[in-house]
Amino acid sequence: MCEVCRFEGTDYRQLKFPKTKLFMRNLYTVLKQETLSLVLCYVHEIELFAIGEPRFMEIHPNLLRAISKKPQLFTKKNNNNNDDDSGSIA
Ligand SMILES: [Zn+2]
Repeated sequence: MCEVCRFEGTDYRQLKFPKTKLFMRNLYTVLKQETLSLVLCYVHEIELFAIGEPRFMEIHPNLLRAISKKPQLFTKKNNNNNDDDSGSIA
């Protein structure tokens, strides 16, 4: 499901756009260290393209809040990245 629709409660089924197609989009400016990967519906994909990342995050505060709480859920390396340094010398 589209992340924006999920967090903002936008019912994209009400909109007159194709609704089955989902897009994976990378956002580079939201997190400082990592690339954000979002699943977006057609409507929000167009929106992101049209208004850009900073504004997109501004108008979707619930999504931004969810990302800042658990950014690892929205980044690519969320499965095999061990974030404790116990095994390696820093
Ligand atoms: Zn959407």
